[in-house]
Amino acid sequence: MDSMLHTLSIAQAHEKLQKKEISCTELTKACIDRAESVDKKLNALVYRNFERALEEAKKIDAEGEFTHLLTGIPFVVKDNFCEKDIPSTGCSNVLRKKDYRPPFESTATARVKAVGAISLGKGNTDEFTMGASTETSCYGVTRNPWDPSRVAGGSSGGCAAAVGADECLFALGSDTGGSIRQPAGFCGCSGLRATYGRVSRYGVMSMASSLDTVGPICKSVEDIAIVLSTIAGKDPLDGTTGDVPVPDYTKALHGDVKGLKIGLPKEYFIDGMDEQVEKAVRDAATQFEKMGAVVTDISLPHTEYAVATYYVIVPSEVSSNMSRYDGIRYGHTTDAATDLIDYYHLARTEGFGDEVKRRIMIGTYALSAGYYDAYYRKAQKVRTLIRKDFDDAFQNVDVILTPTYPTPAFIVGALEGDPIAMYLQDIFLVSQGLSGMPGMTVPCGFTSQNTLPIGLHLTGPQWGEDTILNAAYAYEQAMDWKEQKPNL
Ligand code: GLN
Repeated sequence: MDSMLHTLSIAQAHEKLQKKEISCTELTKACIDRAESVDKKLNALVYRNFERALEEAKKIDAEGEFTHLLTGIPFVVKDNFCEKDIPSTGCSNVLRKKDYRPPFESTATARVKAVGAISLGKGNTDEFTMGASTETSCYGVTRNPWDPSRVAGGSSGGCAAAVGADECLFALGSDTGGSIRQPAGFCGCSGLRATYGRVSRYGVMSMASSLDTVGPICKSVEDIAIVLSTIAGKDPLDGTTGDVPVPDYTKALHGDVKGLKIGLPKEYFIDGMDEQVEKAVRDAATQFEKMGAVVTDISLPHTEYAVATYYVIVPSEVSSNMSRYDGIRYGHTTDAATDLIDYYHLARTEGFGDEVKRRIMIGTYALSAGYYDAYYRKAQKVRTLIRKDFDDAFQNVDVILTPTYPTPAFIVGALEGDPIAMYLQDIFLVSQGLSGMPGMTVPCGFTSQNTLPIGLHLTGPQWGEDTILNAAYAYEQAMDWKEQKPNL
């Protein structure tokens, strides 16, 4: 048996499965062995479902039909997705302490499982996805496969590290303001946040409902297209999903970018950004020109307000969404309370971590009478302007090219006690969240000293996933970044 099966992409593994060159059991076993050997170092997985995965693999081998590209493909899912009867905690003590096992399945996991994908377990995340490093997880930090002294990013850090370290072939994550794209970029993977409403969030724990999206983290752009085609589309269980036909995104990958209009927004090349990151992104723009694209400088004038706007709107929605964790309906309970108010107070004080509490307090304040107009309503108005920046830009260009982050993966603990520095991590990613636009990251190089991956970010117009996927694919095919693997 080929002992490197875990390194295959979905498309490569599918071909081998179909030709019966490998079995699904061998593939699943290879991923499990890999996880057993490297995850002690990384802490990407917070729940392992290995026995059940092997049973499913055997069943699929017995059936012998690999009709769908995802049949028999092992994956990891972020721990804020509900899987029926499987611990699903959002990496919060609120749910972990009570061993919460949902009685239902998220639509995204249901869709990939329906075609035979195999769940290996749950990926680490910041508590209820609030963070950019997985350091707020109740299971502890996930480390970066390229340099375990550094973070894998967040909040989908467990998923990104698991894909980057070849513990699985793909992962499902969620992105409110960067949580798929930043960790995917930090770990040398591709990751896509779809247009708001493109993929159902049913069964995914809400953080900020007017921004939350679901999407894949993969080893190649083609794999992203495969997974997105499977999970996208209208869902009667999620009223925010759009009734927009789902193309076969793999068909969009023709690799031709001649005449494609690409905009480089000047607001995304800022003081303080890492020189190597800037160079890698500018080199990528030159590469696009070589391939026949037309690159121009553009402006997204309200960019400077994006982080402030995000950190008013998101905590406001957090303060509402977290109210369900009252110690009665879900999760952590307390014995020490003297009356009902004291009960709520203690259950939530004991259950939630600092970042969640910080957001609940900021959000409650911003929504309270007297402050609502000054903060929340104002932020919503700016949000409209940020969205308009994109709409205006897409009158003239097809794709917007930016760095995924200003600096590569940082050392574990480096931003401890500095929430603002952590919030600035997503300075290039929150605008797409606020305006509902699709965005994806694809590897575009490495830093020379630490050999940390650098991410290139492509933003498309609403429902324009096919355009950014094809552009990313053309670039990926011209370079060999994705062939490089961490030395674990
Ligand atoms: N880091 C950002 C935050 O903490 C984004 C998180 C996310 O997309 N879930 O809000």
